[in-house]
Amino acid sequence: MDITIELLNRGHIRADINHVVGGTVMGTANDSNPQTMMGESPVYNLVIEHPEATILWDTGSHPSAGDGYWPPELYAAFEHYDADEHELASDLATAGYDLAEIDAVVMSHLHLDHAGGLYEFAGTDVPIYVHEDELKYAYYSANTDAGSVAYVASDFDHDLNWEIVHQRSETHFEGIEFVHLPGHTPGLLGVQITVDGKTLIVAGDQAYVRDNYDQERPMSTGLLWSSSHWFESLQRLKDRERRHNATVVCGHDAGDVARLREGIGSE
Ligand SMILES: [Zn+2]
Repeated sequence: MDITIELLNRGHIRADINHVVGGTVMGTANDSNPQTMMGESPVYNLVIEHPEATILWDTGSHPSAGDGYWPPELYAAFEHYDADEHELASDLATAGYDLAEIDAVVMSHLHLDHAGGLYEFAGTDVPIYVHEDELKYAYYSANTDAGSVAYVASDFDHDLNWEIVHQRSETHFEGIEFVHLPGHTPGLLGVQITVDGKTLIVAGDQAYVRDNYDQERPMSTGLLWSSSHWFESLQRLKDRERRHNATVVCGHDAGDVARLREGIGSE
């Protein structure tokens, strides 16, 4: 199976490092008021070229994120300062693709830094793969005071050709497995891809950075829908990593982005 993966740079988000790895900066008796730090996280998408389809993994933030499209408190906490320079169509063009070449989209989840480019597919018949639990929770969250604040209805409330993933694991393209990993959100999907006999697992925001994955240190509670589900999903991922001798990449890790840029099947 000839599958290639292209990385799309979708900009950067600045946030307090305590969001990304919960409890990174903590006071002690000797240091009762420690200074926290702002960290910078890459936002990326992938174009997976499969013999049956050219598949886009996630769609980044809406280009007007900083112009009041995102709720202002949320933008202040998670500042996607260069979103306006990263429209999906232009980032695709930088990588040599036209929007019209995308045959399918797989959504890891529908948070606002992942679903902000879906409007480009409104009114088209491009299938948008999303887990059932994610779509339900996104609508519930965006339209009530309950759930999570990280969903913006105008990101996903379009005339889209949703393809709903229902199971814990589904294969819609040979060599590409969608894996349900609840925890960060109820319907997070990981993607396991076999390229040239090597296995890549795109964990998405199951782990923002390596420390979440390697040290099993979760994100802050604000970025966890359910910590018990999160720990269970982490063990399922690690089991897959062992069984397939896989490379796992995290959702917002600069080192993993560099590894993806080097090309996962080309070492
Ligand atoms: Zn997220």
